[in-house]
Amino acid sequence: MIHEVIPVGPLQCNCSVIGDEASHEAIVIDPGDDVERVLGLVRKHNLQVKQIVITHAHIDHVGGAMKLRASTGAPILLNQNDYALLKMLDVQAAWIGMPTPGKVEIDNSLGQADTVRAGSLAAQVLETPGHTEGSICLYFPLEKKLIAGDTLFAGSIGRTDLPGGSYQKILHSLHDRVLALPDETVVVPGHGPLTTIGEERASNPFLQGM
Ligand SMILES: [Zn+2]
Repeated sequence: MIHEVIPVGPLQCNCSVIGDEASHEAIVIDPGDDVERVLGLVRKHNLQVKQIVITHAHIDHVGGAMKLRASTGAPILLNQNDYALLKMLDVQAAWIGMPTPGKVEIDNSLGQADTVRAGSLAAQVLETPGHTEGSICLYFPLEKKLIAGDTLFAGSIGRTDLPGGSYQKILHSLHDRVLALPDETVVVPGHGPLTTIGEERASNPFLQGM
């Protein structure tokens, strides 16, 4: 598996470029901004982007999606429970003082147990509402890797005070779906350093007693 993690935009959202070494087909997750740099990585590994996955409809994760779709022709995938939030990108842009990226069109919704494929790579969709109503994580079972969006961070969890957020729901998602994964699973959070499920299970203050 080719996997590059590149922090993009003023909020340094971790964008993942994940490619299949044999077929060179690829999935890009959360192209929030800096699409030229993302495309540079795509070219560096000679990849063909087949899927653009958005873990949730916050502007720092979805802001560059249309530009990437225009350059690659790949569909944009987002859980339908975040479509309402996606209509608020102008409001979100004003919150953080960013220019609005314009309208983002979604090609397909992704839901629990859907599989996202590129070549021989297969990722399972985990619905993990809480940070937003439509937040998802992508789990690659063979590679034991989780792309967690803003559901889980090293030492912390996603904020739940924004529209669509729910502290109860994020705790349920973490308990039922995220902590159900093996300890050796490498976690790529939506921001900040990588971690593992085992490390977070042992030391993340929000997960103690689960
Ligand atoms: Zn977010």
